[in-house]
Amino acid sequence: MAEKHFKYVIVGGGVSAGYAAREFAKQGVKSGELAIISKEAVAPYERPALSKAYLFPEGAARLPGFHVCVGSGGERLLPEWYTGKGIELILSTEIVKADLASKTLTSAAGATFKYDILIIATGSAVIRLTDFGVQGADAKNIFYLREIDDADKLIEAIKAKKNGKAVIVGGGYIGLELGAVMKINNFDVSMVYPEPWCMPRLFSSEIAAFYEGYYKKKGIEIIKGTVAVGFDSKANGEVKTVKLKDGRVLDADIVVVGVGGRPLTTLFKGQVEEEKGGIKTDGFFKTSIPTVYAVGDVATFPLKMYNELRRVEHVDHSRKSAEQAVKAIMATGGKSIEEYDYLPFFYSRSFDLSWQFYGDNVGETVLFGNNDPASPKPKFGSYWIKDGKVIGAFLEGGSGDENKAIAKVAKVQPPVDNVDLVKEGLTFACKI
Ligand SMILES: Cc1cc2nc3c(=O)[nH]c(=O)nc-3n(C[C@H](O)[C@H](O)[C@H](O)COP(=O)(O)OP(=O)(O)OC[C@H]3O[C@@H](n4cnc5c(N)ncnc54)[C@H](O)[C@@H]3O)c2cc1C
Repeated sequence: MAEKHFKYVIVGGGVSAGYAAREFAKQGVKSGELAIISKEAVAPYERPALSKAYLFPEGAARLPGFHVCVGSGGERLLPEWYTGKGIELILSTEIVKADLASKTLTSAAGATFKYDILIIATGSAVIRLTDFGVQGADAKNIFYLREIDDADKLIEAIKAKKNGKAVIVGGGYIGLELGAVMKINNFDVSMVYPEPWCMPRLFSSEIAAFYEGYYKKKGIEIIKGTVAVGFDSKANGEVKTVKLKDGRVLDADIVVVGVGGRPLTTLFKGQVEEEKGGIKTDGFFKTSIPTVYAVGDVATFPLKMYNELRRVEHVDHSRKSAEQAVKAIMATGGKSIEEYDYLPFFYSRSFDLSWQFYGDNVGETVLFGNNDPASPKPKFGSYWIKDGKVIGAFLEGGSGDENKAIAKVAKVQPPVDNVDLVKEGLTFACKI
């Protein structure tokens, strides 16, 4: 098979790859210099749409509507955009071997690609219940959600099992978004997770109590403190029941599992330094090999604000890390680039709810506002306080300006001695 050579190759064609391509174009990459190699069959798109509007029964988001970079208010990069810029989009091509010493990638079909500079943007893969040998977990109609193909298969099942019963395994953001969207599709929904409350890695118990109350109000059954230990299927192989550790058995036409992901770094094992489960980079996303960069979910980078190495699996960081790496790669003539100085930002949307979080969620929490799930327009938030300073802020139902205000608080980290945060609530953030 022919060998191709590019000055720059991005392996992975997700969010980071798309934002990197836009930045390369801004920085004047020449026609024929850049290739993106992706396992997926479509040009980079805004992945968060898959668990939200893509699954709506009406007015669903469809490509080309959510190609990057619409998610951050930028231009939509259609496949023609890449052609117009002379950027080669090599789709439906999985890289199965990466030899960083000889700067060679090999695809499943046996094609080889040589590069001068490589950007690793392979993202994450979902953790599957079959990975833990859960009995019956390979039954039909048990779904995971990472790529557009996964979402398309789920949509087929939603159509085939109209008004049926869905069990969501996992209480993280995928579980919560999928629980909502299955309810919107008129399924009878149960959610199961082992923790004492949903989103335990971010939410305080008070924040979680609101979302659990709201979901119950919408008719979703929430089963906590237990896990799915097995599945029974029908003669045709489709899932029939979910067996829980506490002995309960739930009927299910569709099961959606959202129990986390792991960064896709196996291709590079033993070739680059790793840290905290990801590929270790500097503040320019350069790895231990100077011609190799890693961005998005796979990168473990210096989080300057907190003076520690972290991996962040969220879309805002995937966009910004990609742009930072490309700026560093393309910096010429002694032009200096500032080190990455990231303020962690996560968000989620479900039903008519929408929250944003900025900063770090360690220390004491202070809840403010109205978190009554029965309220017609709930609006509340939380601050995280450490060493007398606000270091993290969460807001449900905020306006654009209010969200900017909580972002600023998390960045500025104002002292809160003698401040009644419960009383001041959002006003405190808006004054900073
Ligand atoms: C359903 C869903 C909803 C989400 N919602 C939110 C949200 O609301 N808010 C938020 O902050 N974050 C959200 N995220 C997380 C966010 O989408 C990711 O952090 C982000 O996409 C990471 O970007 P990335 O470029 O690192 O990886 P990805 O966007 O996952 O892209 C990786 C790409 O690499 C390809 N690839 C992998 N291995 C190979 C290989 N060997 N050869 C070729 N190609 C390969 C994959 O097919 C994929 O196209 C969501 C994620 C999912 C799955």
